[in-house]
Formats: sequence, C-alpha cells, structure tokens
Amino acid sequence: MRRIKDYNKNKIYVITIIFLFTLFLSFKGFAMNSHSHGTIILLGNKNLTPIIYSDDGVAKGIAVDIAKAIGNEIGYDIEVMAMDWELAQIMVVNGDADGLLHMNPSFERNRLYDFSFPLLKSEFSIFVLDNNVSIRDINDLKGKRVGVEPGGYPSILLLEYDGIEMEVIYDWDTSFRDIISGDLDAIIVDRWIGEYELAQSKISGIKIIEKPVETQYSRIAVKKGDTKTFSLINSGLRKIIEDGTVDKIMEEWKGKRVLYITEDYYRSFLLHSAILFLTLITLISIYFVTKYRRLSKSLEISVKERTEELHQANEMLKAANSKLERISMVDGLTSIENRRAFDIAYNKTWKLCLRERMPLTLIMIDIDYFKIFNDTYGHLIGDEALIKIAKVIKNVIKRPGDLAARYGGEEFVVMLMNTTIEGGKVVAEEIKKRIEELGIENREIKNVITVSLGVASVIPNYKIEPKELIDYADRALYRAKECGRNKVIVWKDDI
Ligand code: GH3
Ligand code: MG
Ligand code: MG
Repeated sequence: MRRIKDYNKNKIYVITIIFLFTLFLSFKGFAMNSHSHGTIILLGNKNLTPIIYSDDGVAKGIAVDIAKAIGNEIGYDIEVMAMDWELAQIMVVNGDADGLLHMNPSFERNRLYDFSFPLLKSEFSIFVLDNNVSIRDINDLKGKRVGVEPGGYPSILLLEYDGIEMEVIYDWDTSFRDIISGDLDAIIVDRWIGEYELAQSKISGIKIIEKPVETQYSRIAVKKGDTKTFSLINSGLRKIIEDGTVDKIMEEWKGKRVLYITEDYYRSFLLHSAILFLTLITLISIYFVTKYRRLSKSLEISVKERTEELHQANEMLKAANSKLERISMVDGLTSIENRRAFDIAYNKTWKLCLRERMPLTLIMIDIDYFKIFNDTYGHLIGDEALIKIAKVIKNVIKRPGDLAARYGGEEFVVMLMNTTIEGGKVVAEEIKKRIEELGIENREIKNVITVSLGVASVIPNYKIEPKELIDYADRALYRAKECGRNKVIVWKDDI
C-alpha cells in the first residue's frame, strides 16, 4: 500500500517539476538540445553525494568535475544539473536535456540511450543491520523489504529476482533508520554513496555486506540517435581518461571520501590495534631485556676478568714482597743469612727457649789474619774465600731452628737452639776442622786460612739479657785469638 501511494505522489511531483524546469529554461533563454551556443546540458541524480549532488542548487561531485573536464576538452560549456533522478531520465527522453551523467546501463536503458565509455566504478552493495546473519548475498533477499533509489540501477537489478519487496528511498536518513527499526531489511546502493550517507546520518549499528551484489561502470547516457552529442562527449571523455585528468579528479575526491565504520569493524580495529600495540611493547621489552642481559653478562665477564687480574696482581705483589723480604734477610756476598736475619731469629728463639727452658748456644767465628790475606791476594780473592767459608759453616748446621749468619766483615755467627755447651763445642770444632781442610793458602803467614771460635751457652731467664750471650761468645772468641788462633774456646765465668 505504502509503495503505491508513494508512487502516485511521486508522479505528481515529477510532472510539476518538468513544467517548472521547462519554464525556467525558457526564461533563461536556453535553446534545448541545441549546440548553437556551445552548451551541453547533462542531468544527474541529486542524491549521490559525493558522486553527484546538489549544493544549494549547484551541481557538485566527482562526475560533475569529470563532465566539466570533458567540456573543456571539447570546447563546449557543459552545464550539469543535479535533480530528481526519475525526472532527469524523463527529461532526456523528452529531449529537454542532452544527457544523463553517471548512469548504469541496463537492458531497458540501452533501448533509450547511447552509453559513453565507462565513467566511474559502482560497487552496488547490501547494507543491513549489524547483527543480521541471515543476509549474506542477493539471494538471501527473497521475501525481504529492500530499499532502493527511485530510477536507480539497483531498482532495475532487483526486478530480475522474484519475491523481493522493493521500497523506494527518498531520504537516506529515514531509510537507514528504517533498517534500525526493522521497517526495512536491507538497502542496496553504490557502496561509496551508501557509506557516505551512512556516515553523514551518524547512525550506527549498520554493516555493509563485503561482497558487492554487482560491480558496474556508470557512463554518460545520451538520448538514442543524438550521435553528435554522443560522439562529442565520448571523444572528450576518452581524451581526459587518456591524459590522466580523470585519475587526477578521482585522487582529489578520494581524499574527501567518508568511510562508514561499523561497530563490529571498530571493535575489531580496536582489538587489532591493541594486539599490535601489545606485540610492539612485548618486542620492545624483549629487545631491552636481551640487551640488558647481554650488557650484564659482559659486565659480569669484565668484573670477573678484573677480579682475576687483581688477584694475579696481588699474588705478584705478595711474591715480590716475600722476595724482597728474603733479599733483605740474605747477605749479598755469601748468600747466607745476614745480620738482620740473625737479630730477628735470635730474639724469637731467645723467647722460645725462655718459655720452654731450653739451652741456647752461640758460636762466634772470626777468620784469622784475613787482613793479611786481603793484602796479599786482593779483595776479590778475599771475597771468594769468604763465600767458601760461609758455605762450609752453613753445611755444618743441619737441625731446624739452627742458624748460620754473616755477622759482619769476616765474622760469622751460629745459633743452635735447644743445644748445650757441649753440643755447641762439637759443632764449633767441626767448623774449625772443615775450614782448615779447605786449604786456602795464606802465603804471608805460611799457613792455610783458619778461624777462631768462641762458644757460649745459657738457658735463658729473666735475669739475663739476650745481648749478654752474644757478649759471652764474643769474649770466648777474643780469648781464642789470644790463645794463638785456630782454636775453639768455650765461655766460662772466669773469662
Ligand atoms: P785476626 O786474626 O786478629 O782476626 O786478624 P785479622 O786480619 O783478621 O783482623 P781483623 O779481624 O781485625 O781483620 C778484618 C779484616 O777482614 C779487614 C778486612 O781486610 C777483612 N774484611 C772484612 N770484611 C771483608 C769483606 O767483605 N771482604 C774482604 N775481602 N775482606 C774483608
Ligand atoms: Mg775480625
Ligand atoms: Mg780476623
């Protein structure tokens, strides 16, 4: 019922418009269907924003720009008027205008018009409620109420399908709301236009079936038989297609394209963005963690290396120190312990013997007539003799805790721990004997080198000073010299 009523209303509306339009053109002095003024009049659908639409009575849109470019190309002034599409078609058939801009050919239309080269690509698509799962393609529209534009290509297309209840759309906003309210099941329109109108109406909850019902190329339709206009338009169109003007116009308009985003799309877009963002964050984190790990590993390695180096340096320092310590305790000429080593060892041993009540014995040794020996053979030979004598003394000493040292010049000292005076005397005699056995000749005194030895022994106690024992041994040595040298003298109180 509603459809029939709407159709009658539309008819009256169309007739009125034709009358008014004819009057308007006569008033303006236009000679219809005439090129004597170099003007071609093309009519277009006023409801196809952004392809063709009326902006305060001025036709605008992609197709309009293309039409103007054709005019420029062929040297004609092309006037485009955006109006009711049904009325436009009637007017061209009636000869009140030269052609129709942006029309999709059909069997019926081919009988009425000649169609130019393809103008624009139209993807006729189905718009349905977001949660509609029953409509997936045109075959699912059987028994459904489908909105189409009056006189538009979808209205012709749907005639081929039985059982589809067509509803004529006069106003986009209302018809999209009809989908929401359930008064309409679907709308079929060129996707670009539908998306634009949907976005403008700010209605959400409508989705676009991705697969278009049909992909068509719109053209410029000229009334059958008007070969002059047709060939003019066609040649102009071909030229602007070839020289890239059409592409340029398309590019300009694509920038202004309004995309309708469904909630589903929006949600999946958000989800994908979130996944992408999280993946990115994860990758960045992995990158930094790996980098940090590598850094800390190399830091660990270099700390280990430095520690090892430090340890080595420390060991070297310790070794150097103990070497220095050893050097500072050894006599440079004879390589036996020096006076310093003796002093340290003697004080230590004294304390030990004091505590343990052990006897401590000292042997002081002095080479006989060594000055003469030096004077006879020179200091270097004297040094050699000193080295040999030191070696002999050192070899006689065997027990741990005993010590042989160069006391100074050509004097030596032997310390014997836990040794009585008798033991000391035995050691002294052994030294004396072995040095004599070296047989180092001392020409001037007509003898070999000999030594004099003084032996002294005490069990340390708090009444005696350590230096006293040294003094006793010294005194015994002095006595040995007095007694003719090459002798061992044991210290007694009466010395
Ligand atoms: P005496 O029998 O009384 O001990 O006579 P002596 O000539 O050995 O007298 P004294 O002990 O006083 O002499 C020490 C000499 O020892 C002086 C020096 O010529 C010699 N002498 C001391 N130290 C060294 C040394 O390092 N090398 C050499 N070649 N001779 C030294
Ligand atoms: Mg001396
Ligand atoms: Mg001497």
